Amino acid sequence: MKPHVALIAHDQKKDDIVKLAGEFRATLSRCTLLATGTTGARIASAHGLEIERMLSGPHGGDLQIGARLAEGRVDMVIFLRDPMTPQPHEPDINALVRACDVHNVPCATNISTARMILDGLTSRLAHSVSA
Ligand code: PGA
Repeated sequence: MKPHVALIAHDQKKDDIVKLAGEFRATLSRCTLLATGTTGARIASAHGLEIERMLSGPHGGDLQIGARLAEGRVDMVIFLRDPMTPQPHEPDINALVRACDVHNVPCATNISTARMILDGLTSRLAHSVSA
């Protein structure tokens, strides 16, 4: 079954996640992708990836992804948070990160960790082809 990957980035991090998605486009194209509204739109239009878009984060998108995750339907989360800007939906952000910890789902909140997770996913997918 395809890995289910959730993608989210705060406004100051959207360029970063678009760039990251481009670097890992081949891997992400083999996954089922979901994202918060604006992040999903940016990545889809930049890279032509098929992405299920939830509501925008401040309107409940993080919570929708958290609910999916709690149901066992999200395998990893790339969540590029902006640590320098207060967010109106801080409780939702914390709820999603907490849900990752509760359910032991990998969650990258910065680009370095995101690269490590996506590198791991890339090798896993390469291995599953050769196996
Ligand atoms: P957005 O939501 O992708 O709709 O901007 C992300 C967020 O701000 O949590």
